[in-house]
Amino acid sequence: MKDDLQGAILQRDKETYAIVPRTPVGIVTAEVLEKLAAVIRKYDIPITKITSGQRFALVGIQENEIEQIWKELGLDIGRATELCLHYVQACPGTAVCRFGVQDSLGLGSELEKDFLGVDFPAKIKIGVSGCPMCCAESLLRDVGIFGKKKGWTVTFGGNAGRRPRIADVVGEDLSKDEAVKLVNKCLDYYNDNARKKERTSRFMNRTGFEALQEYLAQ
Ligand code: SF4
Repeated sequence: MKDDLQGAILQRDKETYAIVPRTPVGIVTAEVLEKLAAVIRKYDIPITKITSGQRFALVGIQENEIEQIWKELGLDIGRATELCLHYVQACPGTAVCRFGVQDSLGLGSELEKDFLGVDFPAKIKIGVSGCPMCCAESLLRDVGIFGKKKGWTVTFGGNAGRRPRIADVVGEDLSKDEAVKLVNKCLDYYNDNARKKERTSRFMNRTGFEALQEYLAQ
């Protein structure tokens, strides 16, 4: 694929592409929906699919339309193949959910801004949930966070893929700032020690939870 295809992913027909505009923590406004609807109609995009990462994938785009569609959307490009943060998914938390005990949308938005554009050894997915029910699949994400009454729990090394792995708990009862600091520390350790394209789950299986604990205790 050419570099100037702006996040577009070649589809199995080997002719058309999908693009995934960023919709941080899955929140969309009427204006965003109108922009999406306008390009879907104008370019006759055959499939629009909501992804597991709470984004809209526009599928079946012709190569020569990609640039113009991005211009008309005016939305940030969602990365789908690069070695970086792919998305932060977050549940509604205290914003609306009656079970919510922490502000998952607020923390998720903050993490999305912090790590947008940062390179990592492999793709990173983050899930932030407002209570231990973990509707944002926190325990199956590279970085997982969920709220309890006393504060945030942070987990690291989860994956839902072909070889699923439940993440390890690296901190509990944390304030928001403490949780963000701990996430940064785990990712620093991962950056410094992981092999290229080694997801956090494989990295943790190779290096062990004890080694991470030792690093975090320093
Ligand atoms: S994780 Fe808890 S707060 Fe979030 S949507 Fe599920 S039940 Fe609600």
